[in-house]
Amino acid sequence: MDTEVDILIIGGGIVGLMCAYKLKKNRPKLEVVLIEKEQYLGDHSTGRNSCVLHSGLYYATNSLKHIHCIEGHKQWLSLSKELDIPINLCGKYIITNKVNDSELDKLYQQAIANNVKDIHYVDSKKIALLELLVREGYIDSITVEEGKKPEVSILLKYYEGKPVIREIKRLSKPGLREYVGKKDLPSINGGLGIAVVSTSKGLMTDKQAREAGLGGELLCSVF
Ligand SMILES: Cc1cc2nc3c(=O)[nH]c(=O)nc-3n(C[C@H](O)[C@H](O)[C@H](O)COP(=O)(O)OP(=O)(O)OC[C@H]3O[C@@H](n4cnc5c(N)ncnc54)[C@H](O)[C@@H]3O)c2cc1C
Repeated sequence: MDTEVDILIIGGGIVGLMCAYKLKKNRPKLEVVLIEKEQYLGDHSTGRNSCVLHSGLYYATNSLKHIHCIEGHKQWLSLSKELDIPINLCGKYIITNKVNDSELDKLYQQAIANNVKDIHYVDSKKIALLELLVREGYIDSITVEEGKKPEVSILLKYYEGKPVIREIKRLSKPGLREYVGKKDLPSINGGLGIAVVSTSKGLMTDKQAREAGLGGELLCSVF
């Protein structure tokens, strides 16, 4: 069969498909043909990857990988709306198993330099808070993947399709620390929720602190 087209794209993975999509969008009159050897499109790496929308924090500033991650991230967010593809922007935790980890500090600085948005430095107290929320049944689990760049994944908990955590309120703030004595520990929503207290013996719920006879810094309430 002899056919002439303006552009022939070989391979229907994300790269081929995006080339075809952009070409047709910007030049509708172009005759573009895409051929794929498999039965389905995206049947190789494209359909079998980890589905992470990378933010570009690992790469050297202004390297192609960094630039493509940032630009790709931006484009996917607008394209997902255009094509009605849901994206779960659940974020990502990178954790260390060391008290002082200069590698983690470096990575944080790299992320800042790379203009990665919404990045927060989570200290060990916040990890302890997550562990407490697991113990108290507010979070399903946290999984720590050890390695050169240890990561923690958080599995949120749902009950009858609704998140178990209805509300988290930060109480003590850097500019206005809130401390309570053992007699003034609050009860959240009549005892149905918890207050998280940083005591001299670690993080505790208000109930545990009451039982231990300890006061401390009121970090947050969870309901
Ligand atoms: C384990 C793993 C996890 C990953 N995780 C992520 C992630 O979380 N986030 C992320 O952004 N990236 C991730 N990636 C990378 C990402 O999946 C790839 O960069 C991307 O899918 C590459 O797309 P592609 O179109 O170049 O290749 P492919 O998806 O491999 O597509 C190539 C297509 O060409 C077809 N083809 C080949 N030869 C011919 C031929 N002669 N004629 C016709 N068709 C042909 C193939 O059948 C295939 O469909 C991951 C990769 C792997 C392997």
